Amino acid sequence: MSKAGLTMPITVAPNIEKLVPYVPGRSVEEVQRELGISKLVKLASNENPYGPSPRAQEAIIQEVGKLNIYPDASSHNLKLVMSEFLDVDTDCIAFGNGSDDLIHLLGVTFLEEGDEILQGDPSFIRYESAALLNNVTCRMVPLLPDWSYDMDGLIAAVNDHTRLVFLANPNNPTGALVSHSEVERLLDSLPERALLVLDEAYYEYASEHAECPRALEWVRQGRNVVVLRTFSKAYGLAGLRIGYGVMRAEIAGWLERTREPFNVNLLAQAGGAAAVADTEFLKSILSYNRLGLQLLYTACDELGLSYTTSYANFLWIDTAKDASEVTAQLLRKGFIVRSSKAFKSSTHIRVTVGTLAETRDFIEALKSVLSQ
Ligand code: PMP
Repeated sequence: MSKAGLTMPITVAPNIEKLVPYVPGRSVEEVQRELGISKLVKLASNENPYGPSPRAQEAIIQEVGKLNIYPDASSHNLKLVMSEFLDVDTDCIAFGNGSDDLIHLLGVTFLEEGDEILQGDPSFIRYESAALLNNVTCRMVPLLPDWSYDMDGLIAAVNDHTRLVFLANPNNPTGALVSHSEVERLLDSLPERALLVLDEAYYEYASEHAECPRALEWVRQGRNVVVLRTFSKAYGLAGLRIGYGVMRAEIAGWLERTREPFNVNLLAQAGGAAAVADTEFLKSILSYNRLGLQLLYTACDELGLSYTTSYANFLWIDTAKDASEVTAQLLRKGFIVRSSKAFKSSTHIRVTVGTLAETRDFIEALKSVLSQ
């Protein structure tokens, strides 16, 4: 028993002790303060550099006066809009406070003692957190030397305990894409209890390419697949926090029970519905991203740097130098990129495709840093 007035350390379960707080890409203001730099460009969190969809902005402004009222707990209108947009039943859609929320919910809902998560390594960091939080093993299969998924390795690692298989496609941090038939091969190898979680956070960028899987077909066929997508990337709404999952109604029904009643706020529901109708915005974002990637590819070719062809809005570049040093020097030149420390490579950086002007300036900075 603690004595009144004495603060005793609070204890938590061993699995909670192992959790580390998410380290986000550093904010522009934070780094500006620290280094005394006035102009700083953040190319570290795969955000859309062109701002939010204008139609989403208008819709959000319309809703602001209603903030005294709780949001619709069933996201009814957004569900109707998305059901038509995706051509799936409304019961097959679940929304989250970002797709992060859905990753969390999938863990809480489906992981039981003795279960395992399976994922490629490196990949999006939140999958492992879901395993730790729910006290299950996270089985990681290293990517191949060319930074693509080791699909044979993943299939070989499937066992009777496999419950959730997380496949970010395109993968983060590499931007590499797995084809429809390869994903299907993995899906076919899974035991009955397992769910394949296809994290398509960067789907809109990948959808421009013929080899992008048609993941919703598996949902329509009633397979054990959860397709995660988000409004945070191509639609430019990362700050709004809204993502969605598409899955069999039965699976979505379980998430309905575990989610918080108001996990999608009023503005997010309105913004999301307006954003998917903003096809002009999306089209221009995709075309600017294509041009930005092309600039980066050309620069890497000129510099003799190898990179992974990207199906997303970022590029995984091998600087052939100590990535922490390169990252620090780029920072001094006003660019925040993601160092590869978190991603188990000592020489790579992950660079978000900025505006064309930002990308050109970044290339100059990279050339200067690497010539030193
Ligand atoms: N999955 C992947 C692969 C990601 O890169 C991200 C964002 N960095 C997310 C999910 C989470 O996105 P959000 O929560 O903003 O929808």
